[in-house]
Formats: sequence, C-alpha cells, structure tokens
Amino acid sequence: MPIIIKSDDEVQIMHESGRILAAVLELVAAEVRPGLIMRKLDTIVKEEFRRRDVIPTFLGYQGFPAHVCVSVNEEIVHGIPGDRVLRDGEIVSIDLGNTHRGFVADSALTVAVGDIGPEEQRLIDVTYQSLWAGIRAARPGARIGEISNAIQTCAEAAGFSLVREYVGHGIGRDMHEDPQVPNFGPPDRGPVLRKGMVLALEPMVTTGDWRTKKHEDQWTISTLDGSLSAHFEHTIAITDGEPKVLTLRSDEQPLAATLVAAAERRG
Ligand code: MG
Ligand code: MG
Repeated sequence: MPIIIKSDDEVQIMHESGRILAAVLELVAAEVRPGLIMRKLDTIVKEEFRRRDVIPTFLGYQGFPAHVCVSVNEEIVHGIPGDRVLRDGEIVSIDLGNTHRGFVADSALTVAVGDIGPEEQRLIDVTYQSLWAGIRAARPGARIGEISNAIQTCAEAAGFSLVREYVGHGIGRDMHEDPQVPNFGPPDRGPVLRKGMVLALEPMVTTGDWRTKKHEDQWTISTLDGSLSAHFEHTIAITDGEPKVLTLRSDEQPLAATLVAAAERRG
C-alpha cells in the first residue's frame, strides 16, 4: 500500500486525538500500584474514553477483547488485562489507542509497580531513550532506516535486544498503515521521510534475547527466554523540521524543550 500523506488539517486532528490519548495514558499509568487488579485499568480506560467521546481503537481490533493492552515483566505486548494482581517490583507496559474524528493515535509506556530493581529501571530508561533517539532521527529527507538504526544503536549500546517480529508503523484513519518502522536495521533502508507522514515509533526492548512466543490466549507476546521487556511508543508527524510528537504527555515537556533547543543549536 502507498504511504498516505496527511494534510496540515489532518495532522491537526491527529494532534487532538493524540492529546486525548496522552491524557488518558498518563492517568492510567498513575493508577499502577502493588495490589491493583489489572482488569481495573481496562475499566478506567473504558470510562475515560467514554467521557472524552473517543472510540477505543483496540477493542475488537482483530477480535482483541479489551480497551487497553497491559503486559507485565517478560510480556512484551498485547497482554489482556484480567484478574492478575500487580506485585511490588514488577514492570507494566500499557499500550493504548483511540480514534477521534476518524483518526487514530497510538502510544505506550512502561512503568514500575512500587519499588523496582536497578535492572528493571535501566531497561525502562534505555527503552524510553531509544524511542527518543528514533524521534530525533525522524526528519524530512532521512530514511525510515535512520529511525530504526538510531533506536537499535541506543538500546544495544546498553546491552539490550530489540524485538524483531513487532514493529512501528504508519498511522492515520487506520491504526496500521504503511510504512513499517522496524526497531533495527541499517540506516539506508526504507522510504524517505517527508512532511505529512505520521508514524507510530515503538521500540520493544528486552534484557535478553529478542525472540518471542505467543501465549495460549492467542494474544499475549512474551520473550522466549523469559527475560524482561519494556515498550514505549509515540505517534509523531514528520514536518519541515523537527518531528511533532502528537502523543506527548505533560511529564515529557522538558524533553520536548530539549529537542527544540537542539534544533536551535543546529540552526
Ligand atoms: Mg500501540
Ligand atoms: Mg503501534
């Protein structure tokens, strides 16, 4: 399929969609604590989406049974929030999508349950940094491969691995549009970025091997070796200059300011 370029007006609507999603994701992440039944996160998302009059994009997507994906510890993505109780020291990846005025926003983060160990914290930090390394590479004229390579370089420098089977993607009226955005590979691969492309970048990083397995529920994806995994995702728009992060959360504003400052230094 061809890459669908969005008009300025469409990017504006996608930004609205992204702002709503960011607010809900921030709110849901703040609920994570030891003793919480995972299903509660699904209930919160359902209510918050309803309040904001947006469509829960994940619910029913290829038959997915929840409003949000919640993946714990060695689980990478697509976990179904059920009766499991969160315990102190675990890490939880929350992946969320909403559709607003016909356009999808998609974002994910990994947070700590109570007090986590240094390796868990390092995994979370590095995965987040690798997402931002990818965002910084997303400039017009660059290839998709430059995003992929920036993400891979950042995570592997820390001794971690990048999941291969699940990748970032174009996004718009459909959650998954072309092009694919792998989290690994050489910089000279893939289409050239240009203004109006909207992409979901989403490194899935593991402390061990990158191979994965699917659970019996036919949804949850885990590391094959049982190592820990973290996942961060933003929906971004390619502009004439620095990318616009459409799903930026309020706690991330300092990072966005850093990005702008770096751009200004470059002139
Ligand atoms: Mg997602
Ligand atoms: Mg995605």
